[in-house]
Amino acid sequence: PPVAPYRGRFAPSPTGQLHFGSLVAAVGSWLRARACGGTWLIRVEDIDPPREIAGAADHILATLAAFGMTSDEPVLWQHDREVAYAQALEQLTAQGVAFPCWCSRTDLAASGGLHQGPCRAAPDPERRPAWRARVPQHRVQFDDVLYGPFGQNLAQEVGDFVIRRVEGYFAYQLAVVVDDAAQGITEVVRGADLLDSTPRQIWLQEVLALPQPAYLHLPLAMGPDGRKLSKQDRSRPVDGSDPLPALHAALAFLGVSLPAATLCRSPESVLRDAIDRFEIKAIPRPLRDVQAQDALQ
Ligand code: GLU
Repeated sequence: PPVAPYRGRFAPSPTGQLHFGSLVAAVGSWLRARACGGTWLIRVEDIDPPREIAGAADHILATLAAFGMTSDEPVLWQHDREVAYAQALEQLTAQGVAFPCWCSRTDLAASGGLHQGPCRAAPDPERRPAWRARVPQHRVQFDDVLYGPFGQNLAQEVGDFVIRRVEGYFAYQLAVVVDDAAQGITEVVRGADLLDSTPRQIWLQEVLALPQPAYLHLPLAMGPDGRKLSKQDRSRPVDGSDPLPALHAALAFLGVSLPAATLCRSPESVLRDAIDRFEIKAIPRPLRDVQAQDALQ
């Protein structure tokens, strides 16, 4: 575990109820923070109003509480953080990294949807631009605590990515970097679907002169037969009024097995018992996941 006082977080987007995949990320990040004697925070990533569902944020917080997990510090709401994101955008613009862009999807179709090099569309004073970050040509590499070395050449694989959308909303990639730094996060624990966002985030941290946290990506929830859960299964909400079955399933998914005697206790005491039994080495990595990952390298 890192030496600095550990600070971890769970950062749900209120686009629906808490589902099994996000429960795994919540439990994994909570156990890791507790096993490291650290702090665990909740951040509500509500910066995408068109995709948000009214009441989802409160529902997620209430469900997490029913599972025995509450934020050690006041919950951070991204809708309160516009000023900080605007400052970061200004800094990137001053550095020549951020630029306004009027390119449409159609404009970028020829380059596989990636924005590479100069804009294809001319500036149009009649329309609001998106803002993109001009990415470097070199490979951005990091060592994931679970997955090991992972890197991307941002220019070739990602392209100049959007940090503020045409509608005026700041993009996840920028907001997450600003807030992980503002909250002093020392290690990010989240689902492996975000592994390929991490090089972008690490590069933004470098450009903005922010500290780089460690990263631990958790395997994505698979079905009992080892296949990826269907979208429907994955998005099935977990039930806060009957948390134990889903809690045990999430712990089993993370390689934590508990003696039968703990099975009918409160979620709080089940979680407490799980802290000492949680081991990075014991997290099962589904074979397909490993192969997919190897193919990416
Ligand atoms: N809000 C993102 C999501 O729910 C997670 C962001 C993160 O953990 O970095 O997918």
